[in-house]
Amino acid sequence: MDPKQTLDSQGYSLDSQSYRAPKDLLAGKIIAVTGASDGIGAVAAKTFASYGATVILIGRTVPKLEQVYDAIETAGGTQPAIYPICLEGASEKDYEDMHDRLEETFGHLDGLLHNAGELGQRTPIVSYKLATWQKVMQVNVTAEFMMTKALLPLLEKSDSASLIFTTSGVGRVGKPYWGAYAVSKFATEGLAQVLAHELDDTSNIRVNCINPGSTRTRMRATAFPAENPATVKTPEEIMPSYLFLMGNESEDVTGQSLNAQ
Ligand code: NDP
Repeated sequence: MDPKQTLDSQGYSLDSQSYRAPKDLLAGKIIAVTGASDGIGAVAAKTFASYGATVILIGRTVPKLEQVYDAIETAGGTQPAIYPICLEGASEKDYEDMHDRLEETFGHLDGLLHNAGELGQRTPIVSYKLATWQKVMQVNVTAEFMMTKALLPLLEKSDSASLIFTTSGVGRVGKPYWGAYAVSKFATEGLAQVLAHELDDTSNIRVNCINPGSTRTRMRATAFPAENPATVKTPEEIMPSYLFLMGNESEDVTGQSLNAQ
């Protein structure tokens, strides 16, 4: 099956569960993952490494990043790299430094998964705190913009680069009490669409969004404290879509927003 043919007219569905990646899918690729310390990002980093990639683990909590690093090495993956940064406080200069450090070490980037995210409050807009709003928008949108802007020159040096943004169902249809989180995901979808158009035909970079769907992580447990975690998928179960978008089999897919389940 060619997964590209299963995109529906809205571009929202991909039969990702049936995608079976070849074991060497990402061999030789340099891929950066934000929020690689926990949840979906940690599993995506380990999965990309297990399919041959050299992974750059971007995050703010170094001991947790080190655990992911150790797991990759223990599993026999290519030696990863850790890049510590707090997306809430980082400045444009910090992202320029990130570009310079990654260029010195790796020369180019084949993939960037924007995965880090803040949930914020689950309250009505009328009682939403400005400080929380600003934090969520900074981490979920402005940091993505700054990092993408700084790292585009490294992605442009790849023969075939994949830029992936993480969205959510509430980033497509607004729902009550999701506040800045929902708004930030609408903005992320918009940023991805703008970039996809700008880079189409002028670069080798494809730009897509991925909606993980309900996934068993700390964020999900915080958003739905009464839910039995066993009833939602694990990050490992949603990896086929991530692999599809990161590997060359999605070379012709850009400007899409896919569902991982
Ligand atoms: P987790 O809360 O498990 O992980 C979030 C990650 O983002 C962690 O690595 C965390 O780092 C990092 N992060 C948060 N704030 C910052 C910051 N200021 N600087 C650097 N890193 C930061 O969330 P999930 O794995 O569930 O979510 C991953 C992505 O998937 C998010 O974009 C989320 O919105 C999206 N999503 C998740 C769904 C789900 O059901 N789980 C559903 C739909 C979308 P640290 O470990 O240091 O806290």
